[in-house]
Amino acid sequence: MNLKKILRPHILQLKPYSSARDEFTGKADVYLDANENAFGSTSDDDRMRRYPDPYQSEVKEKISRIKEIPTENIFLGNGSDEPIDLIIRACCRPAVDNIIIMPPTYGMYQVSAELNDVEIRKVPLNKDFSMDAESVLKTINENTKLIFICSPNNPSGNSMDRQAVRDILASFEGLVVIDEAYIDFSKEKSFISELATYSNMVILQTFSKAWGLAALRLGMCFAHSEFIAVLSKIKPPYNINGATQEMALNALDKISVLKEMVEKTLTQREYLRSALKSIPTVREIYPSDANFLLVKIDQARKIYDKLIEKLIIVRDRSGVKLCEDCLRITVGNQKENDELISQLKKICL
Ligand SMILES: *Cc1c(COP(=O)(O)O)cnc(C)c1O
Repeated sequence: MNLKKILRPHILQLKPYSSARDEFTGKADVYLDANENAFGSTSDDDRMRRYPDPYQSEVKEKISRIKEIPTENIFLGNGSDEPIDLIIRACCRPAVDNIIIMPPTYGMYQVSAELNDVEIRKVPLNKDFSMDAESVLKTINENTKLIFICSPNNPSGNSMDRQAVRDILASFEGLVVIDEAYIDFSKEKSFISELATYSNMVILQTFSKAWGLAALRLGMCFAHSEFIAVLSKIKPPYNINGATQEMALNALDKISVLKEMVEKTLTQREYLRSALKSIPTVREIYPSDANFLLVKIDQARKIYDKLIEKLIIVRDRSGVKLCEDCLRITVGNQKENDELISQLKKICL
């Protein structure tokens, strides 16, 4: 990977803001360097009066042990949204460079690119939501900097073919961003184990789904250490707040809880699948490696509206290309799933 050719030229020279916590990193008795409050905090937790660790060293150490990857390959963001935006801003010259996405997919890649005035080249997924790797490779030009692959994909739920992803990694000189937000629910392994093989691979994961911490806004990005260093340089200095770091440290000791929740999710996913099958207007339930099902059903929009009347909210994807007449349904707990099925039966039968 030639990072110099991928990054916007000025990013290499850029000098980051140097915070008080950057200029002195040891342990001291008296801290009068950051204009913090010397008398306490309006929070019950007195630690909140201090600026948080801008490097998130402790959190990264724990993630490093769990993911079996050095801390120099880890970047943390305010949700996955922040790394998505930083990656685009680091690499794409506005009105010059482009990114490739494969719709139907997660909306933030397009939103971030548009916000940064970066061209979006769309290579739609096939009808079965598999990737058209050949068309992706044909769509690359000299200004293509990034290819976004969402696997398992939102909203379709399927994982992308591993070899097809590898083909793109091997033939593309820019960065391939693999969004693994739902990887914990998948029968497929994370691509993390192949980071050493592909220096142009960037992996996104999140605490929002399997970890059950959507409110924390904490996203993980794994990549070559040189690229991680660039992201760390251009991020806002205190992008992960102190409360989030504290809660993440706690959560990272509870992998057994995560595993239990994933097991429950998978059980309920298959329960929901079989219950939906008994509804005659359900035309198709797509395979899912995630914590949701994409369901093709007659008159999807009307059913969506009727469910809202019953105070049950699913995601209407019927207006999305290749998802015509589809609802995306998050796997709920037993009670929620039973309530959904019972209302659907009343509406559809
Ligand atoms: C939910 C989701 C995320 C997570 O976003 P956060 O900002 O970390 O909450 C990322 N990618 C995809 C595809 C998702 O569906």
